[in-house]
Amino acid sequence: MSLAENLAAVRTRMARACARVGRDPATVTLVAVSKNHPASAVTEAVALGVTVFGENRIQEARAKIPASPAKARWHFIGHLQSNKARDAAALFEMIESVDSLGLAAELQKQAEKQARTLKILVEVNVAGEASKFGWNPDRLLAELNALNAFPRLELHGLMTVAPYATDAEKVRPVFRKLRELRDRCAADLGAPLPVLSMGMSGDLEVAIEEGATIVRVGTALFGPRPRIQREAADE
Ligand SMILES: *Cc1c(COP(=O)(O)O)cnc(C)c1O
Repeated sequence: MSLAENLAAVRTRMARACARVGRDPATVTLVAVSKNHPASAVTEAVALGVTVFGENRIQEARAKIPASPAKARWHFIGHLQSNKARDAAALFEMIESVDSLGLAAELQKQAEKQARTLKILVEVNVAGEASKFGWNPDRLLAELNALNAFPRLELHGLMTVAPYATDAEKVRPVFRKLRELRDRCAADLGAPLPVLSMGMSGDLEVAIEEGATIVRVGTALFGPRPRIQREAADE
């Protein structure tokens, strides 16, 4: 299958899920996850009308972003170490995976130095998986005001990576909990948190039915990811 065909299929899946729950497809943004794929894949996707791309490693992004069309916009979606916050702040429009107050403080510092504003989402470990990064929901509620106080960071909403499941229905409760937590956070802050980034290739329909405004899709667009050699420092 070509990228054009894959993209059409993903857009159709998104539109059908929206139709099932009476949502306007324009309220859901497709973030094309280009990790492990070359800048040429980004160029091809941009030509087909894709505008937002997701990367999960700074080192890879540092090479790929300058080699990609200037109109591509970039979201960071992986675990970010504080010592990479400077590059992250320079390269990305949004950091979807802010997973600690310490990281937020470092991003604030770097955004200040670069005289720019960064959009952020907070990553929530809804299912409490030991293998995953992200806020525990209770801790997020406790730290929310501190997180919202950084002048160079704009808190737009919540993000989660659901547990792997062969049956997407199984992760519906995870997506629903993220939406409910978002509603609670918005009420506590007295401000809307419009963005919910949840759903990937295997479960984007369920995520959209539960309120996703961003789906992050890699495999269903670009095919299986080639393995790439990485330097230890980037792990
Ligand atoms: C790789 C990745 C995706 C895309 O996953 P696919 O199953 O290939 O669609 C989405 N979100 C995050 C955080 C990822 O690391």
